[in-house]
Amino acid sequence: MKRKIIDLRRDTITLPTEEMKQFAFQAPLGDSVYGEDPMQNELESLAASLLGKEASIFLPSGTMGNLVALLTHTTRGDEVILEENAHIRTSETGGIGAIAGLMVRTLRGEDGAPDPDDIRRAIRPQDIHYPRTRLICLENTHYRYGGIVPPLEKLRAIKRLAEEAGLRVHLDGARLFNAAVYLGVPARDIAACADTVMISLSKGLGAPVGSLLAGPKDFIEEAKRYRKMLGGGMRQTGWLCACGIVALSPENIARLEEDHRNARLLAERLAEIEGLSVDLSRVQTNFVLLHLHRKDLAAHRFVELLQERGVLATPVSASLVRFVTSREVTREDILEAVEVVKEVLR
Ligand SMILES: *Cc1c(COP(=O)(O)O)cnc(C)c1O
Repeated sequence: MKRKIIDLRRDTITLPTEEMKQFAFQAPLGDSVYGEDPMQNELESLAASLLGKEASIFLPSGTMGNLVALLTHTTRGDEVILEENAHIRTSETGGIGAIAGLMVRTLRGEDGAPDPDDIRRAIRPQDIHYPRTRLICLENTHYRYGGIVPPLEKLRAIKRLAEEAGLRVHLDGARLFNAAVYLGVPARDIAACADTVMISLSKGLGAPVGSLLAGPKDFIEEAKRYRKMLGGGMRQTGWLCACGIVALSPENIARLEEDHRNARLLAERLAEIEGLSVDLSRVQTNFVLLHLHRKDLAAHRFVELLQERGVLATPVSASLVRFVTSREVTREDILEAVEVVKEVLR
């Protein structure tokens, strides 16, 4: 019997819902570069209000959103403090160096954010020999650490110390709404820990394309110049933005809880299997990191064997495998995937 493919590689595989398509097809269109696309205007004000910021702009990707934020906050040669495994450093093709021309000061933070004391020590004193420390970048949820949510109190402490030191804070919130659902707080409460925030519509929220960058009005006006410079002025964006408006509806945001429940179910069932382990305390949102403890089976091979049986996952290192839940996988799929893992390990 041919099995259905159960895709647990990413939450970017999500397809637009029927509701998104219906809403998109009847959307009025205009030239967004001239501020004339009604749906883009509506989406930008909706996102700004959800994030508690004065304004926001729609961009084609999260990578461009973060890069536009870096460019707008800094000048070439400035230094940015970020967590060692931050997506901006590890997974955005080095744009922070190649395009923004910035120095990177990394600090480790196992809970997803650097310690305020470490940040304080990393801030450069004024000296003609040193780059200027300008910006702190945070990430929530933290991608490389398996979708964990850094403690809100810690983020607040970082924001306070940034204010004291005259630094700005940018939040890479590609999965900010997952964090908000996990903490049971409105997204704007987390966004308040940063001056600017980027959110993705194309991950668990399920829109086909797009991200938003939100912040103070004058910052966003300047950010529009960099968006244009990088080629992010997209004309009739209404179809995409209509999907984004549905993606940001309260019901669609609340639905992320389902992905979290599925991830937890997967993690708990996997943790019972001999030869592997899952740190359940770090399964907080829609990611599961599985540690393989079998000398005869490397993560890459394990993932190949899963794939032959219709379950897709991502090898992260020699012994670590990542599973990500999304709207495209059901509770039944999760239970089926657990059976396939057992079969492979047998
Ligand atoms: C996916 C992601 C991005 C980048 O978004 P793209 O739309 O893929 O460019 C940025 N930060 C984090 C944490 C992400 O997971």
